[in-house]
Amino acid sequence: MQYISTRGQVKPKGFIDTVLMGLADDGGLMVPVEVPAVTEDTLQKWKTLSYEKLFLEIFSLYINDEIPQEDLRELVRRSYSSFRTPEVTPVHQVNDSLYILELFHGPTFAFKDVALQFMGELYSYVSKKQNKIIHILGATSGDTGAAAIQGVRGKEGIKICILHPHQKVSKVQELQMTTVDDENVLNLSVKGNFDDCQKVIKELFADLDFKSKYHLRAINSINFVRILAQTVYYFYAYLQINKGEQLPKINFCVPSGNFGNIFSGYLAKRMGLPVNKLIIATNENNILERFVKTGEYKPGDFKMTHSPSMDIQVASNFERYLYYFLGEDPEKVSAYMKELQQHGKITISPEDLVKVQQDFAAYGASNTQCLELIGDYKKSYDYLLDPHTACGIAAYEAEAGEGEVTVTFATAHPAKFDEAVRLVDIKQPFPPQIEQLFTLPQHQKIVEYDKAEIVRELETFYQL
Ligand SMILES: *Cc1c(COP(=O)(O)O)cnc(C)c1O
Repeated sequence: MQYISTRGQVKPKGFIDTVLMGLADDGGLMVPVEVPAVTEDTLQKWKTLSYEKLFLEIFSLYINDEIPQEDLRELVRRSYSSFRTPEVTPVHQVNDSLYILELFHGPTFAFKDVALQFMGELYSYVSKKQNKIIHILGATSGDTGAAAIQGVRGKEGIKICILHPHQKVSKVQELQMTTVDDENVLNLSVKGNFDDCQKVIKELFADLDFKSKYHLRAINSINFVRILAQTVYYFYAYLQINKGEQLPKINFCVPSGNFGNIFSGYLAKRMGLPVNKLIIATNENNILERFVKTGEYKPGDFKMTHSPSMDIQVASNFERYLYYFLGEDPEKVSAYMKELQQHGKITISPEDLVKVQQDFAAYGASNTQCLELIGDYKKSYDYLLDPHTACGIAAYEAEAGEGEVTVTFATAHPAKFDEAVRLVDIKQPFPPQIEQLFTLPQHQKIVEYDKAEIVRELETFYQL
């Protein structure tokens, strides 16, 4: 498989070069030249596979022979051995129409682990194989940073620097990142919000000289390997639920921020997974909801909510959807992205809006609703939702139709966001892995939202 940019100015690349490139050199995002098709027969054959085996099948469609099968198998084995359940992402049935796919059984208790544990192993593999230095640089609204740091801490040939918005991540997220004391880890706590952090990162990656001088590699969901790793659990969930007789197509409802997780679902659907509705759940930062409802994509005012990992106004992966939506035409994508840059918004035609609404439904939960649902589901089902998952449940309740079966993603463990859970007067026990974080010293540097200052910190770190 070869990969090209959504903006059309990058020569086709193999899988590993695509992963190493991260953001495409022309400012676009990398996508496969063609989406491989999975037939119903294949799905039938996949029904009995373990998570790891399913992962191998799906990745084999995208990697060709770039990584020998036995090496890939070992990378996958290592990636998921740190998960607390053998199913990796188990499905929990709530009632006849609702299942919850628990994506939080990895080392940092959020769905980012599923892709980033693998990515850490992959970077380490490539670094050894090609004798390459790898300097990971990323911005996080909390969970990506923690998962990425866990994925590469202590690994030889790799250094990682993560920017997070100062005091705008949950306490547990902050501790998961900053209590790591390996020398190859630098945490920069930036006095700004997540979009500010992401903007600096985007600018540094767009500076090709800087990027190559310091061997910068991305871990954000602009990286195609993350998207691909996330498609696995869409298939896995479908196959888990669809064990017996043939079910109708199912809905997936996904708490969304950067549009990465839900885009993986869109890709799975394009590959042939029988998906009915893809429901985008947002919080009060609802750019995606507004886009699906009105056809206008326009960053609004940043709001702080109970679900900080979704406090995002500029959804990076949106461009990948735009690419497919516009008939895989890079010129049209470039024109739209230019419009966004110049006018601060994109508006699509009413006819196009109809098309978008065939691909997605969307719903934004208010802060009050999010908290109410945490209380309701605890009472009715004795199931504790984290605030991100609660936004997903709000969207499920609003958008799923009568008789439809929906899988809503639990993107984080509630202990990670105890601030919100406490507001509904629920006391939860903490898993021991989280409990012990509170006893450890923290390592981070607080910096201004200032590119020059951040660059200075990076240069010092990389030259160590
Ligand atoms: C990152 C994150 C999201 C948003 O996922 P995207 O891929 O950015 O859309 C939702 N919930 C949690 C808990 C997260 O960590």
